[in-house]
Amino acid sequence: MDSINAAADILAASEYAIALTGAGLSAESGIPTFRGQDGLWTKYGQPSNLSYRAFSQDPQGWWERRLSDEDTPGNPTYDLKDAVDNAVPNPGHLAVAELETMGVVKSVITQNVDGLHSRAGSRNLLEIHGNRSYLRCISCGSRKPRATYIISDLPPVCPRCGGIIKMDTVMFGEPIPSATLEACSAEVQRCDAMLLVGTSGAVSPAAQFPLLARERGARIIEVNPVPTQLTPAAHVVVSGPAGEVMPSLAHAIRTRAIRSR
Ligand code: NAD
Repeated sequence: MDSINAAADILAASEYAIALTGAGLSAESGIPTFRGQDGLWTKYGQPSNLSYRAFSQDPQGWWERRLSDEDTPGNPTYDLKDAVDNAVPNPGHLAVAELETMGVVKSVITQNVDGLHSRAGSRNLLEIHGNRSYLRCISCGSRKPRATYIISDLPPVCPRCGGIIKMDTVMFGEPIPSATLEACSAEVQRCDAMLLVGTSGAVSPAAQFPLLARERGARIIEVNPVPTQLTPAAHVVVSGPAGEVMPSLAHAIRTRAIRSR
């Protein structure tokens, strides 16, 4: 409780707090993380079809494998699709959205690709690794919901420019779309507090964001059941699952706001 109050103090006193979230926030929605206990890579190993080089060298072969994996149980692509298709936002996502509605959290940078933040009501949202229910053209960058495409010929091509279409999710070795990265950097530059929820801090550039913000004087709060690579950079660590910690944190801030009226 002390750590929740300390985190609430930081957020309530901040002028521009932002959240950086990761796969752990969606774990309580039934979506497995990649790393750690019950992680997809812990179970299956890291799949090769996540690499941008594999996609660029053979987009047709990549799509054929992808569509087959999505329909065949016993691989991480199937497990993730099945979990995301059946997931709903959990109390952690709802609390992050509530903090934005309260005006405490100004924006959310998420590494998650599951779309649960927007379904929970987060509005000022940057999906730095894309969204798995969207497709994106590698030439003109246009994004559209996957459900609006009829995928017949492989690889699918962009109706606007004829470029090759890929999943919107950012693969290993693929540059993050520059507009998204610039928007994230601007938020990191501007924030005076950063709330880390359910991220291991193992994936760059997102893992650098708390370190850059801290260098500029921002206060860092970490919510995670276990210590991470980012724990040493945190001013306050709230140890526990996001689905329990985040509603308590929102409640503590709501209570402060009522008292100060
Ligand atoms: P990660 O898998 O590397 O780490 C997950 C972190 O969440 C760990 O530190 C773990 O201790 C913590 N965690 C587990 N359960 C938690 C809970 N209930 N509450 C709070 N924290 C909890 O995830 P990452 O740091 O986001 O980075 C890896 C990559 O995983 C990202 O690129 C992301 O795109 C991808 N990914 C996304 C999803 C998703 O969209 N839901 C799922 C799996 C992987």
